[in-house]
Amino acid sequence: MPRRSLTVCSTPSCAELTSGGRCAVCRREAERQRGSASQRGYDAAWQRTRAAYLKNHPRCECEDCEALPYEQRPAATDVDHIDGLGPNGPRGHDPSNLRALTKSHHSRRTARDQPGGWNAR
Ligand SMILES: [Zn+2]
Ligand SMILES: [Zn+2]
Repeated sequence: MPRRSLTVCSTPSCAELTSGGRCAVCRREAERQRGSASQRGYDAAWQRTRAAYLKNHPRCECEDCEALPYEQRPAATDVDHIDGLGPNGPRGHDPSNLRALTKSHHSRRTARDQPGGWNAR
């Protein structure tokens, strides 16, 4: 390996050394995830389902916000699949399997659901 100044990969859970930013493995992984978003069902049909759901559920529906009076809940921006299977799951477009979340509450929930995964900030 050539002697260059190496830094730790910018992925929080990764300790690989790299010449800058993410290491090769994480870069490939990030590209793979981006490239497959529509394959995973995050396509135009999902955008319509999501928009319709947010219209009917404009406020965050996470456990923490449900404890608040409705007017005090923050406005939702994301729609999450309760079964975790995404739009391609058997109930991917079923409103009873969806819930509206704010972006930060969504990542907080994702972090909570995946112990040892990436850390939400
Ligand atoms: Zn890495
Ligand atoms: Zn919330």
